[in-house]
Amino acid sequence: MLNGYAGTVLRVYLADGRVEKTPLSRQMAEEFIGGRGFVAKTLFDELPPRVDPLGPENIFVMATGPLSGHFLPASGKTHFGCKSPASGGYGDSNMGGHFGPAFKYAGYDMLVLTGRAPSPSLLVIDDDRVEIRSAEGYWGMGSLSVEAKLKADLGGDFQILTIGPAGENGVVFACITHDFGRQAGRVGIGAVLGSKNLKAVAVRGTGDIPVGDARALYEEGKNAYRAVRAKPGFTGWTPEGTAGITDWINRVGAFPTKNFSTSYWEKHSDINGEAILRELKITDKGCYCCPTPCGKYGRARTGLGDVYVEGPEFETIALLGGNCMLGDIAEVAYANYVCDELGVDTISAGVVCSWAIECFEKGILDQATIGRELRFGDLKSVVYLLEQIACRRGIGDLLAQGVRTAAQKTGRGSASFAIQVKGLEWSGYECRNAPGMMLAYMTSDIGAHHARAWVLGHDLAGTAANVHELIASGGGGGKLPKSAPQGRAKYVVDSQHTRPLFDLLGICRLQYMELGFEPEHYERLFDKVTGRRMTWQELLAISEKVWQLTRGISAREIPGFGRAFDYPPERFMTEPVPDGPNAGHCVPREEVDILLDEYYTLRGWDKNGIPTAETLRRVGLDDVADTITDWACHAQESTGLK
Ligand code: SF4
Repeated sequence: MLNGYAGTVLRVYLADGRVEKTPLSRQMAEEFIGGRGFVAKTLFDELPPRVDPLGPENIFVMATGPLSGHFLPASGKTHFGCKSPASGGYGDSNMGGHFGPAFKYAGYDMLVLTGRAPSPSLLVIDDDRVEIRSAEGYWGMGSLSVEAKLKADLGGDFQILTIGPAGENGVVFACITHDFGRQAGRVGIGAVLGSKNLKAVAVRGTGDIPVGDARALYEEGKNAYRAVRAKPGFTGWTPEGTAGITDWINRVGAFPTKNFSTSYWEKHSDINGEAILRELKITDKGCYCCPTPCGKYGRARTGLGDVYVEGPEFETIALLGGNCMLGDIAEVAYANYVCDELGVDTISAGVVCSWAIECFEKGILDQATIGRELRFGDLKSVVYLLEQIACRRGIGDLLAQGVRTAAQKTGRGSASFAIQVKGLEWSGYECRNAPGMMLAYMTSDIGAHHARAWVLGHDLAGTAANVHELIASGGGGGKLPKSAPQGRAKYVVDSQHTRPLFDLLGICRLQYMELGFEPEHYERLFDKVTGRRMTWQELLAISEKVWQLTRGISAREIPGFGRAFDYPPERFMTEPVPDGPNAGHCVPREEVDILLDEYYTLRGWDKNGIPTAETLRRVGLDDVADTITDWACHAQESTGLK
């Protein structure tokens, strides 16, 4: 018996419908903890190298962590992984809600899907019973609509993952939706589910999970809730959730605006957290056992429709709001709803739409190609593009391949303002005066994503450890001096171990990140749940091991992988910000190289950004070290870097 774990790995071979249940190995639990760790290890061991991400050989992995599903603060996170159709390399994404706990109560820690179902299907897991059923009557429906229909058909006590038309049609930024507004948004995980002909996964679980010390865990859990609620930020952060940071991000000149052409927008206060409370919100909405429900469920009335929607949270405000210049919170929320129903990631969708609008403005894509005029600030333009993308109609077929591929195929200089790294669209922070945060995006293992490391505070304040101190102090304001690239890598590396650790444990990081809930609590909870006493530093060491492993997987999967894949878009290196607090600033290529050199050295990677065999052995990845030389040689040959 493995305390903290359900104890079983569920494998479903979709081509012939075989179901296999195997015990979760103690070694796996001890060496990789759970969640993201299980995903990475399984992809390394079981993914056949260099397969088509949308082919049947790609595998889809879902894993919970040891803290998932216990009555502990915010313990409802679930992790997903695959070879990413966006980047072609390692991909993972996580989601809150209630699915992971239900999956554990059904008796499983991890789900591995291989092959492709011969026809559109549903996977229904009802405790021990695992069935593949026809998706007839569900295929083609929107993500939110199909969840409602499945709840009605199967029972309200099922927890359900769905994809929308975008996932069915292989849009490389298609997401998975759950609980009418929670998404595993990034890396195209929804397209991989769609490529397997799976419209939905439904689970009902009624079992329990063994723990190391139930009585002590009960006390520790109660203490944890009290401690979270006593945090000074509790009453300040929770009401607006992530949207509460909008004004501050704009004030420090980091708000993506007009396809990242600038970083400051006067209309930010019309689309911030206060605007949500004032104009949209009906109720708070939280994940399993969450004391700080950051979701805001509300109603958006626009000229195009009147909808109920969860959100928008900060990233959606930044990418559909600032970046597409939708300056009315109801319009941002409506675009959010359209993304959710079609099943696309709001971050990538915002970047792709804003790139297309800029292409139209510059005459690179004309009206005949697009099918209509496009304008920044025009909800109709955004909704039109989203629908074309999800159905792969007309211009949507190009845009559905993500902004990197769309720009490569379009040419005419459009790659310079295709804002992505490794094929993943850049999320909600403009970084031309935030070199540490830029490095975090450049080196994020899935592509340009903020959730791996958040060091904007260090960029701006040098030493402030807590973003709330910065927000309280007003941050920026006025013209900001240029930030130097030197000395940024350490913060990025540390953050890349800390934040993803929560993805191993299966618990939300926001209580730690936003409220300062202390690591000691997590050490104690881990101890009481698993019966294993590990210090925060020991847990972080496993997080580092997983980081080295995910880099290794991308080196194996992407031909020519290495340094060239870590550069930011040309716009950030050559176009100074035109206005706002960071006017005149950019991060030239020589500064980008300083950032990368310092980072690679700290990581123990070679000059091309490939982990050395010594580094891999140091973190306990001997099996990866045994094969890394072949990948590194390949990478050097392909890029011309020696
Ligand atoms: Fe979910 Fe937000 Fe609570 Fe985290 S803080 S568990 S994302 S509701």
